[in-house]
Amino acid sequence: MLSEAERRCAERQVRLTPQRRRVLEVIADRHGAIGAYEIIARLGEGRSRPAPISVYRALDFLMAQGLVHRLASLNAFIACSGPDRAHGAQFLICRGCGVIGELNDASVEAAIGRAAAAAGFAVAAPLVEVTGLCRSCRTSDAPA
Ligand SMILES: [Zn+2]
Ligand SMILES: [Zn+2]
Repeated sequence: MLSEAERRCAERQVRLTPQRRRVLEVIADRHGAIGAYEIIARLGEGRSRPAPISVYRALDFLMAQGLVHRLASLNAFIACSGPDRAHGAQFLICRGCGVIGELNDASVEAAIGRAAAAAGFAVAAPLVEVTGLCRSCRTSDAPA
């Protein structure tokens, strides 16, 4: 994840500064979504706590580079597991165990684009959050 992020940033000639890198590390470590306050707290472990504004700026950078997505319904951030291009991701959020999967179905993205255009709306972030139950939660809920 981090070497991939470094490669992308080098290709685009943008700088993955130590602060941005550490924020990405904390998010990627989680294997799920993590809130901004928790990111700040994690960064402050064993050293001085960073200024929140510097963390928010790092998050803006990581989102602009497509390395991190923000999940509005959870008010949290998640490392991107998707393709190396601008993409409208779909997230499947399990309300049983909290696991979050990222899908990148181009037809969903295209459908959102078409419907929005018909409404005269310019899409900035075609990100979809779908809640439900993951496969393993559905299996464990089933009667034996
Ligand atoms: Zn993604
Ligand atoms: Zn689940």
